[in-house]
Amino acid sequence: MAELKPCPLCGENNLLSGVEYIPKKWAGGFNVGFVECLTEGCSMIIRAPTLEIAETKWNKRPLESKYFEKITYLQAAYNEIYKAMAYMKFIQDNMETSPEKDKMIVHTISKILEKQDNNG
Ligand SMILES: [Zn+2]
Repeated sequence: MAELKPCPLCGENNLLSGVEYIPKKWAGGFNVGFVECLTEGCSMIIRAPTLEIAETKWNKRPLESKYFEKITYLQAAYNEIYKAMAYMKFIQDNMETSPEKDKMIVHTISKILEKQDNNG
């Protein structure tokens, strides 16, 4: 049995691993290996043809740091969009409807898109 890394979803070590029998209605059943997190509220489970494969898959954790990088990027993008929306609302609230107002909104949107493109 391999040394298991903590649950990739919740980080806990409350794990159960083994082999379970999956019955089949018409033909015989089959065994699968599994690693499961028993932490309440966590639903992480990996099943594979053998226990060894399940353990190997369990230990091949997703690159969490990549996800955190992406989350940070998306939060920043969200903040930019939120600011832009607030700005557009300010424009809408403080200007009479006019071609000038429309132009300003289009200009604001294109500036945001430009910024997004530059930030990847
Ligand atoms: Zn878990």
